[in-house]
Amino acid sequence: MTRKAPPAKVSISPHRWYSGCMQIRDRYAPSPTGLQHIGGIRTALFNYLFARSVSGRPQGGAFILRLEDTDRSRFDQSYVQNLYDTFKWLGIHWDEGPDIGGPVGPYVQSERFDQYKKYALELTARGRAYYCFCSSERLEQVRAEREAIRQSGYDRHCRGIDPAEAARRAAAGEPCTIRLKIPLEGEEAVTRFRDYLLGDMEWKNSDVNPDPVLLKSDGFPTYHLANVVDDHLMGITHVLRAQEWLSSTPLHIIMYRAFGWTPPEFCHLPMVMGTDGKKLSKRHGATSVDEFRAQGCLSEALINYVALLGASYEEGKDIYSLRELEERFSLDKLNKAPAIFDYKKLEWYNGMYIRMKGDTELAELCLPYAVKAGLFGGPGREPDGEQRELFVRAMPLIRERLGFLTEAASRLGYLFSEPALPPPEEFIPKKGDLAAAAALLRRGRELLRPLAEAAGDEEAEALIKDYAEKNGIKLGDLLMPLRVAVTGARVSPPLFGSLRLLGPERSLARVDRALAALAACCRGATNS
Ligand code: GLU
Ligand code: ZN
Repeated sequence: MTRKAPPAKVSISPHRWYSGCMQIRDRYAPSPTGLQHIGGIRTALFNYLFARSVSGRPQGGAFILRLEDTDRSRFDQSYVQNLYDTFKWLGIHWDEGPDIGGPVGPYVQSERFDQYKKYALELTARGRAYYCFCSSERLEQVRAEREAIRQSGYDRHCRGIDPAEAARRAAAGEPCTIRLKIPLEGEEAVTRFRDYLLGDMEWKNSDVNPDPVLLKSDGFPTYHLANVVDDHLMGITHVLRAQEWLSSTPLHIIMYRAFGWTPPEFCHLPMVMGTDGKKLSKRHGATSVDEFRAQGCLSEALINYVALLGASYEEGKDIYSLRELEERFSLDKLNKAPAIFDYKKLEWYNGMYIRMKGDTELAELCLPYAVKAGLFGGPGREPDGEQRELFVRAMPLIRERLGFLTEAASRLGYLFSEPALPPPEEFIPKKGDLAAAAALLRRGRELLRPLAEAAGDEEAEALIKDYAEKNGIKLGDLLMPLRVAVTGARVSPPLFGSLRLLGPERSLARVDRALAALAACCRGATNS
């Protein structure tokens, strides 16, 4: 079922939603406290696409990257690097950001600290925020007491302190935080906003987080303050973010009002769930882009699949390049219902993109994984010229069935080193024994040279079919022992192509090795 936004009760046309803006400016504002994961890149991608989709129109669009690194205890520079690497790999770039600058930088919150304090003080001066002098012990006690009666947050203890006295105490150096004064009376006691997807939202302020901290005692801003101040200063017109942030939005709207600023438009994106309907998490499997990359996922496939998490385009069309998405994206393609992340579906997409690649490109993509897996004579060993050529020529053998790039190494091992001799039972056809297996393999051996020298599959197939018919042997009975002898397994990439790549001599040697083993086994069986 495709759900079209906006739902009937809300009448925001996607056009009207941004028609009033000079320029669409949206942003991805990650906190670098972890690796980039599916939910994050989905948010980034939708913002990127939204800005791109309007960039041809008069208003234009700009997609901004802002690092929200105010939580210094969880910050790690390697996560910033991971962010850059991930988006470079995905081919998604921003118009303004920490690495490339822009007109309203810096784009890193830790480099903007002075601003936040100034704005917190401004709210205090406006009577919209106040100093809180409570000790952490007191706050902990309040928290515990309130939890017992199923309430959360602060008890607004310092809200009543005379502002002039509070300002004096703060100026005298008494440790304090600045808290937002949530309006509880009159017209402002209810906060309303219209979410593009969810429609009209309404909160009683008495249900909103009671007077959260905006500025900590060390002068650091909290997420709420930094986020709102920056969205305003950076001219953000549209906030497309994950639904888990919905509960902060009333606070943010209250802050915009308190500053006397116009809030941006909000669109909270549907949650991403696993196939069991629970929020996508490590329990379901890989969630970081790094893991998908390590598994041999193509960036095009990941983008294509992630772009459809919570959006529907044309009925019956699954494959979209990034360019196509840029052209087609619009807000009315977004769904309200949660998105389901299905690993099988991603594998399907990956396979589709793999099959669009030519031999050389696919080989190049698979190569780093194969090197790592040790395909060319041990982990980390680069292929020599001959191996490299063989690898390229082997691509047609695996392309059709490849789900992820990593699989190339395990599927093609038999081309690059001698496979272990399979146990004799592996050679035995249905309703047969070891002697029958050996006899069939001897028959197959006769055909081996012409098969390996055939011009292509068709010629090889005609040849072996003809032989099977003339000798009254089932084709499968002829093929199976040959396959096991040459590739080392009952299930393998196509046999004829493998024989051509290995050449007659190597193929014959493998069959002879198998015949010798089977003969030894048969002797053993008669002796005992
Ligand atoms: N820093 C927040 C995050 O980690 C930003 C949320 C928002 O987009 O407003 O996602
Ligand atoms: Zn207090």
